[in-house]
Amino acid sequence: MPERERDARSLLGRLRDIMAGGGSPQVRLDLVTALIARGLGTDVCSCYVLRAGEVLELFATEGLSQAAVHKTRLRVGEGLIGEVAATGRALTVADAWSHPNFAYRPETGEDLFQSLMGVPMIRGGRVIGVLAVQNRESRDYEEFEQEILETVAMVLAEMLAGADLVGKDELGPVAGNAVLPMRLEGDRLNGGIGLGTAVYHRPEVMVHRLVGDDPETEMERLRTALSEMRQSIDSMLALHRDVPGEYHDVLETFRMFAEDAGWIGRISEHIQTGLSAEGAVRKVDDDMRLRMSQVSDPYIRERLHDLEDLANRLLRHLTGDGSTAALSDLPEHVVLICRSLGPAELLDYDPSRLRGVIMEEGSSGMHAVIVAKALDIPVIGRVPDVFQRVAPLDQVVVDGDHGHVFVRPGEDVREAFLNGVLARKQRRAFYQSFRDQPAVSRDGYRIKLMINAGLLFDMEGLVESGADGVGLYRTEIPFMARPSLPSVETQTELYDKVLELAGDKPVTFRTLDVGGDKLLPYWNRAPEDNPAMGWRSIRITLDRPAILREQLRALIRASGQRELRVMFPMVANVAEFRAARKVLMAELAREAARGTPPPRRVRVGTMLEVPSLIWQLPALLKDGVDFISVGSNDLMQFTFAADRANSRLAGRYDPLSPAALSILHRVVTLCDAAAVPLSLCGEMASRPLDAMALVALGFRFLSVAAPGVGPVKQMLLSTNIDQVRPYVETLLDLPDASVRENLRSFALDHGISLS
Ligand code: PEP
Ligand code: MG
Repeated sequence: MPERERDARSLLGRLRDIMAGGGSPQVRLDLVTALIARGLGTDVCSCYVLRAGEVLELFATEGLSQAAVHKTRLRVGEGLIGEVAATGRALTVADAWSHPNFAYRPETGEDLFQSLMGVPMIRGGRVIGVLAVQNRESRDYEEFEQEILETVAMVLAEMLAGADLVGKDELGPVAGNAVLPMRLEGDRLNGGIGLGTAVYHRPEVMVHRLVGDDPETEMERLRTALSEMRQSIDSMLALHRDVPGEYHDVLETFRMFAEDAGWIGRISEHIQTGLSAEGAVRKVDDDMRLRMSQVSDPYIRERLHDLEDLANRLLRHLTGDGSTAALSDLPEHVVLICRSLGPAELLDYDPSRLRGVIMEEGSSGMHAVIVAKALDIPVIGRVPDVFQRVAPLDQVVVDGDHGHVFVRPGEDVREAFLNGVLARKQRRAFYQSFRDQPAVSRDGYRIKLMINAGLLFDMEGLVESGADGVGLYRTEIPFMARPSLPSVETQTELYDKVLELAGDKPVTFRTLDVGGDKLLPYWNRAPEDNPAMGWRSIRITLDRPAILREQLRALIRASGQRELRVMFPMVANVAEFRAARKVLMAELAREAARGTPPPRRVRVGTMLEVPSLIWQLPALLKDGVDFISVGSNDLMQFTFAADRANSRLAGRYDPLSPAALSILHRVVTLCDAAAVPLSLCGEMASRPLDAMALVALGFRFLSVAAPGVGPVKQMLLSTNIDQVRPYVETLLDLPDASVRENLRSFALDHGISLS
């Protein structure tokens, strides 16, 4: 290596010292610009940072007039610096003055300089600034100089992202067409609108140490991390060995990428130039992402995307950082971007900040969506390529009512958003106007409209909506939101609070329904091939009765002298119901012996969500069950053999189908004959059209997410049930897959309000 190059490369070592040393980001920027000018033998080194409004501001300089710092500003695309930002590519010119794009800024004193080399500062595939050097004489910069400048630019980009130099919301994207507003479409999983800053649920790993001490040590770290990463992919492969088809193929391909010699070779080269292992991975990844934004071939994009995913995994192995964004410093209003999401993961976030969730996958039956409904957060699922199209810190409008995502919205969209907020406010006020009116159909049927709850926060919805009570209190939600299994005392306190907030309105507590996608963070369970049909819910609590006993004890104690309503989930046959009820009766006796005042009245019911129970319904009804609540989310999943959380099946089977409606009809007929109260508490009850069909079938109790009370009540007030019933009955024998449109037309023709 020639002496000049060796000297220049040694500046990376000094750069590391500056980064490791103290001082504000501004002080470090000043030191770095001085260091580069000295190290590369240039007369000027300047750092421009992208600010809101796509303006590049001079943040630090060695060689230009200090008076210009924080004053000189260029638009993206303006001048040579602006060109580097707009194209995301390095630019070297021996004679800047004769370049057609040169923009003269007298306040900088740059009339003295002839040649210029500028490189973009890139982070996450986006340009966030420009680093440039200039010389008095006309000079051809060498390749190694450009490489060094690019490496320094990367280090600075990382520092800027972690510093408060510029408001985080300002470090926005610029590269290519990424600045343009964009509209994406997906599935409506929960309605509502929100505006916020995009945050990746699994954020990019922050790399704090970009420059290495010794290339050999860094190579060794890389080799170890690569081998750990391959092992973890191998165990993923082993776990899914028997899964035929696409998923396995995808993992196999992914595994092959982990051996990609070109990719590993490029990382190794950067380690040799002085970067740490993680710095080198980040550099290769940044280069690739920038290229990706310019590639349109979907096959290549997919491959590059795989490499990006690998890079993130590798970085996690190198840095040991595997956390989600929930633990980080969040913007005031967050739109969460994720591939998929578990309910507990969603609960990790401060709900007052969440303005929307956008998923690459996702379906309406998944539990995270149910939690989002309770929190009134709009959710859009199955948005293709969301990670390529939305960058962290982008402003995003989520329109959950229409399934639209507006990325970097223009003034028109923002205005429409504000109008939408106003319209929703007005609609809410309208629902409020009949809040205290009972839900009675036009022909006089009184329907009890209850809410589904799971958080204390939901109980506000009971008061606000004027609902008749809580038809389903999902007790697992507070279990999921805690770091450990709550004690009897904690549970008693919580249930007591729920009952207190409900006042004289009834609350039906459902016992712990975990498993499937509702995992408790502190409960390490062996993975199951088919968790939705696995060891979950009542199956767990009957096998581990201590958990059930403790929960029931807490419920008995909390009820004081009020009514206690308990419901068991996922009951598949009468024997399970009896076994669970026996545990409750034994606990009541034990508590009575301890002197706990007994509840005023005890009502024991069951969810009906496993089809087998329908065929034992006559026996169950004779067995003294006090009430039944249909869990249509699970009942539909098991009836159609269609995983409620599988986005590819979302919308494929309709609960408004002759098959599903016939099943529900049978359940109503049997319960009516036995005079056992029957409700439905799955998501379908929250949709006015579905609720119309349910009341026509004979349901008189519906339990819905609190925001659904107003629209469903409005539907009821405008419906003549005796008119809908015979119509619905004519649909039950049709061969169609869905009768949704028939029902919609009926509603329109008969003035039934469905908004
Ligand atoms: C259901 O299955 O419809 C139900 C209400 O229970 P969960 O959604 O909590 O499984
Ligand atoms: Mg269920």
